[in-house]
Amino acid sequence: MRYDESSPPLPESSTSVSPDRPWYARRSTLVVAAAAIAPAALAAWVLTEVLSGGAGDDSRPPRIVMPLAASAAVPSAPAAPTPAPGASAAPAGTPGPAAAKGLAGRTVVIDPGHNTGNFKHTTEINRQVDIGTNRKECDTTGTTTNSGYMEAEFSMDVSRRLRTVLEAKGLKVVLTHEAGKERPFGPCIDERARIGNEAAADAVVSVHADGVSAGSRGFHVILPAKVKGGGADTAKIIEPSRQLGERIAGNFARTTGSAPANYLGSGTGLVVRDDLGGLNLSTRPKVFIECGNMRDAKDAAQLSSPEWRQKAAQGIADGIVGFLGG
Ligand code: ZN
Repeated sequence: MRYDESSPPLPESSTSVSPDRPWYARRSTLVVAAAAIAPAALAAWVLTEVLSGGAGDDSRPPRIVMPLAASAAVPSAPAAPTPAPGASAAPAGTPGPAAAKGLAGRTVVIDPGHNTGNFKHTTEINRQVDIGTNRKECDTTGTTTNSGYMEAEFSMDVSRRLRTVLEAKGLKVVLTHEAGKERPFGPCIDERARIGNEAAADAVVSVHADGVSAGSRGFHVILPAKVKGGGADTAKIIEPSRQLGERIAGNFARTTGSAPANYLGSGTGLVVRDDLGGLNLSTRPKVFIECGNMRDAKDAAQLSSPEWRQKAAQGIADGIVGFLGG
């Protein structure tokens, strides 16, 4: 079912990755193998493109990318410097002595997926917009857990937590929307991309949770494919977006203890897609993160937990800060 701009065109049934198998253990094995074969390759990600079996909107399958080196697994965010004795902690949102070197003046745009009001504005959000290579609905309602917790609520909550963490690091943070009276629906996916572009964001993250069959578990980060057409040209953001996504995936796994998705991405937690307007139209480094599967009871229990959402926000934030060199 396609609840979601970021739902996979056709979820793969399984790549048989046990969620109980330690992620780092698997990755360590890969790293050892890579080291034995080609030490020089450790400096870079070795990419293997694997065609999945699913047919997307445009009949091209999403490209699944397998990283073989370990940079994403290395916790990348140094702890914030300890304030000097007697210094008071800066309130959230105020760049203070805790601002890490290199982060001051940098801008992060956070895009809370969907909008809790979209359910009431189906005509507006079903309007077609240009995503460069195609046309697509302005926005979608997103999914829900079986008990009715909306993806749009989840994404807004994580986005606000993420903003608090990043502002405390001295970063300027822009949310694409905060729903409510100011934004009763949307923004449309093309506007979501435009907000990041016009803010000249150093990094953009769109926060989501997936809605696929029970038993499909774990997180994945979606990276932009190389697309060119209409207003879309992602050539310049491919590489920095990959670096951003790898950082986020590694840190998200570390802070939440979640495993990479067991239903796509070949266990890497990384997927490349060319059918998302929010990525196609971005001119700034940008990724989506699907934090878990709302339709799986175990994942839903995590997604519904405020404590877990704080860990999720921390992991995303650590990935962004690492990407920015903080
Ligand atoms: Zn979504």
